[in-house]
Amino acid sequence: MTAPTGSGLSVIVVGGGVAGLSCAIRLAAEGVAVTLLETRKKLGGRATSFDDARTGDRLDNCQHVAMGCCVNYLDLCARMGVTDKLRWTTEINWLEEGGRRSVWKPAAFLPAPAHFAPSFLASRFLTVGEKGALALGMREIARTNLDEWRDQTFGEWLCAHEQPGSVIDKVWSPIVVSACNLDVNRVCAATALYVFQGGFLGNRVASEIGVSAAPLVELYDPAISAIEGAGGVIRLGASAVRMDETSVTLASGETLHADRTVCALPFERVGRVVDAAVRQRDERFSAVAKLEHSSILGVHLWFDRAVMGELPHAVLVGRGTQWLFRKSDVDESSGARTEHVHAVVSAADEWMSFSEEVIGKRVLADVRACLPAAREAELVRVRAVKEKLATFAPTPEAERARPETTGTSRIILAGDYVQTGWPATMEGAARSGYLAAAAVLERDEEWALSAELRESALYRALRVT
Ligand SMILES: Cc1cc2nc3c(=O)[nH]c(=O)nc-3n(C[C@H](O)[C@H](O)[C@H](O)COP(=O)(O)OP(=O)(O)OC[C@H]3O[C@@H](n4cnc5c(N)ncnc54)[C@H](O)[C@@H]3O)c2cc1C
Repeated sequence: MTAPTGSGLSVIVVGGGVAGLSCAIRLAAEGVAVTLLETRKKLGGRATSFDDARTGDRLDNCQHVAMGCCVNYLDLCARMGVTDKLRWTTEINWLEEGGRRSVWKPAAFLPAPAHFAPSFLASRFLTVGEKGALALGMREIARTNLDEWRDQTFGEWLCAHEQPGSVIDKVWSPIVVSACNLDVNRVCAATALYVFQGGFLGNRVASEIGVSAAPLVELYDPAISAIEGAGGVIRLGASAVRMDETSVTLASGETLHADRTVCALPFERVGRVVDAAVRQRDERFSAVAKLEHSSILGVHLWFDRAVMGELPHAVLVGRGTQWLFRKSDVDESSGARTEHVHAVVSAADEWMSFSEEVIGKRVLADVRACLPAAREAELVRVRAVKEKLATFAPTPEAERARPETTGTSRIILAGDYVQTGWPATMEGAARSGYLAAAAVLERDEEWALSAELRESALYRALRVT
């Protein structure tokens, strides 16, 4: 193991989301005197929970899904000591109108990408022709050089590879929209293709789905002892109003100084906090200003009885509501027999103007269409959480504009919008934080990032044929 290299260095990290936490935890472990500033009274940023004033429930902003391929986010979880809070499933459940279910599950005896083949061939929501088109599409993805598809949309790739509209609606769209938070006709082709290469085809572990069994905020609380135990400082409720390469001024008027600063703010805040003179001489900041948002809607639903059965999650085929997650079993402890279900709509800009009542009705219609048990059930409560500024929209233009970790100014950038090769995800944020820590310590990418999952021999062969 390499000896700590950072003693004597002081660093201020602004922003306590996944990116800022990842950076701070690595720096603290290397002996850097790190101070993490977070404007809110809790950590986790967009991937966190809130106490609902209406009911007192602790609710997640939205269900956050990790996958087996999120190697850096999983490394962060290990460093925080929360790995055992993640609950894993290897299956993807597809539910059609009427309730018919198809399950994609890995076969134990087959290497990736053939591991899904038996259940894929048996799935009932696709016709024989649709399965053929999808299989050819996946084969083509394995062979695609992403660099050739950075300027086009995934919609153009689908068209160039003659993918039928029904397959786009049933499979390509729900997966890409959930992973990239943008419609297939707007998302950069390379970004979408990477989801399949890295998340489904190369390694059988990659597509495993992990969700937190605890409220999200509880994943990040242990970071406090991890960072402070290594000599770092975490200041919650500390809002930065200005930062440059060696100092940060807080809303209270206090100014902190350090050898280096790391900006781990959401991209829309960067221009407001980073000093104007620094922004002018570093073109990364004009690139950040070009990024735009895409929304996500999370809807908490409580039913008066069990509606999802044993299903931990389900994709609703061809419905506006893309994913359902079973958040709790029927709770009989308090006499209140409710099942908590969470619905997710990504790329949800058009939903943002709807009232909670309208959202509740639309989502309930989707749930009842695909889950027969929900038809008899009463919807006891609804809580819609609109995240208008959920993520950047990964269009081809945005992918070109994403800034690097370092630039002509000495401010180091971290955040899911930084150039990491990943869409806006917890994994992208963790990678950016680790890369920022490496930039502080002048270490290389190999030091910063966890080893990728090993591609199977079959996948490697497919890539070259
Ligand atoms: C509804 C929704 C669903 C999502 N679902 C998934 C999913 O299923 N899987 C997945 O991998 N990703 C998902 N994401 C994306 C994921 O949440 C983000 O990509 C990731 O959390 C971004 O982390 P970050 O650290 O870059 O930014 P942020 O989480 O935004 O962190 C930035 C931090 O800076 C703080 N801050 C802001 N201003 C100041 C200031 N002036 N001074 C000090 N601190 C400040 C903020 O409070 C925040 O804590 C989802 C996002 C949303 C919104």
